[in-house]
Amino acid sequence: CLRIENLSVTIGSDKILQNVNLHVHCGQMVALIGPNGAGKSTLLKTLLGEREFDGNIIFSVPGARRAKARIGYVPQSPNFDPGDPVSVADLFTCCLSRRPAFLGPSKSDRELILECLDRVHGEDLIDKRVGTLSGGELQRVLLALALEPMPNILILDEPLSGVDVEGQTGLMDMLDEIRNAYDLSILMTTHDFSMLEKYADQVALIDHRVLKLGTPGEVLGSDE
Ligand code: ADP
Ligand code: MG
Repeated sequence: CLRIENLSVTIGSDKILQNVNLHVHCGQMVALIGPNGAGKSTLLKTLLGEREFDGNIIFSVPGARRAKARIGYVPQSPNFDPGDPVSVADLFTCCLSRRPAFLGPSKSDRELILECLDRVHGEDLIDKRVGTLSGGELQRVLLALALEPMPNILILDEPLSGVDVEGQTGLMDMLDEIRNAYDLSILMTTHDFSMLEKYADQVALIDHRVLKLGTPGEVLGSDE
């Protein structure tokens, strides 16, 4: 699905990433771990086309002759002000419809939004203000947005930070369910190692380069 070959990213004179090689196979869940400042978010942004790079990034979709992979992206917990009048429905309207959000969603838009929220079991969130959502609820809303239209690969930057322990397991179970239901690959960064064994097929330990790549057991048990 995704092949990253000899990827290097330099910003100014800083070598942020050097010779990263990573394959994400179809339907796999791959976790990126590593210290703060290791370049994990930079790697994700490079895949999204937001950073210049050397090397190759190759997406392929099984069955498609000329690969045009669709990427869904869940950014690292953006801040919304609790007083912000933007509702979940407004946020979806901004992203999915050409209709001005202040008019509110049309009837058919509202149906589509409910369908999207249903994928994350969040239909009851449609009229809530984005700023009042809990960490877990916000992640589910952002996830629902990233799944419309359905991507081939889903990229999430630290989806578990800002979510309480119960919510974390719930979110990981949901990602697992979505991955199986829609046959997509998932690439996510996390600092939560306790989730890796149960959910990740592959783990990459990154500190500007790939220090260790393998199954959760291989990486967590390694000297690196
Ligand atoms: P991580 O997500 O692993 O914590 P980042 O990818 O956010 O790490 O950052 C890696 C390094 O790249 C950091 O030293 C950061 O300061 C630097 N960096 C990230 N983005 C930029 C940018 N747009 N301009 C300059 N330096 C950046
Ligand atoms: Mg980061």
